Amino acid sequence: MKIMRFLDSHGKIRYGQPVDKRTATLIEGDLFTAPTLTQHTAVVAKRLAPVDPPNVFAIGLNYRKHAEESNMPLPSAPVIFIKATTTVTAVNMPIILPTSAPDEVDYECELAIVIAKEAKSVSEDQAIDYVLGYTCANDVSARDCQIKHDVQWARAKSFDTFCPLGPVIVTPDEIDGDNCPIRTILNGQVLQDSNTNDLIFNCRQLVSYLSHQFTLLPGTVILSGTPSGVGFARKPPVYMKDGDEVTIEIDGIGQLTNPVVLEKAGPV
Ligand code: MG
Repeated sequence: MKIMRFLDSHGKIRYGQPVDKRTATLIEGDLFTAPTLTQHTAVVAKRLAPVDPPNVFAIGLNYRKHAEESNMPLPSAPVIFIKATTTVTAVNMPIILPTSAPDEVDYECELAIVIAKEAKSVSEDQAIDYVLGYTCANDVSARDCQIKHDVQWARAKSFDTFCPLGPVIVTPDEIDGDNCPIRTILNGQVLQDSNTNDLIFNCRQLVSYLSHQFTLLPGTVILSGTPSGVGFARKPPVYMKDGDEVTIEIDGIGQLTNPVVLEKAGPV
């Protein structure tokens, strides 16, 4: 099943499987335990992020070449950080370059794991039973805050709009999260091109490991890490600018495209 979240023509939040750009077949029942595809369709008035997560966990340095390009040693256990839930945004919505750190905002293509049911201390063998599915994520990062200004990564990773998710969640019966071609395309140019089969810690290992540290609530999103080719490690560096368009593409899931815009001064 492919699950999208959207506003219908009455402004109501709905879940559905896309039929075309303007129509979805409705999904009813509890999304996390018994999503059921109905015979009914609805107009897609506005796309939303496919999930409204209670927590967003993320993994750093989970591809060998990316650890090397970052001049960091290979981790012996998953490197965990957290992104604020206010980072989450939808396909086609702008990534906003914040006025306090607009100059070194970088892209990171990632496979995002969405948790279906509460997971605490689950084994690697059981882990996929707790997964609703997979979606595309962009772990947007202000490198000047991450590398130069701040001791830890919270601010760099958590500006508003710094976690586009979508366009759909694809359930594990339709896709193998551990074997997905994944890429970043910035203004038509492919800048990251890899496969999740190169992850140091795979999806089962991440869900199990995280569940031994924290309770993973339904809807929790886990960003699994990014491959090599990020902007700050390129020579010369490539950062996202006002007017750019960035796409995260995962075969079997789709394209997550967002325009990039500079934050306007003053309160919203
Ligand atoms: Mg990342």
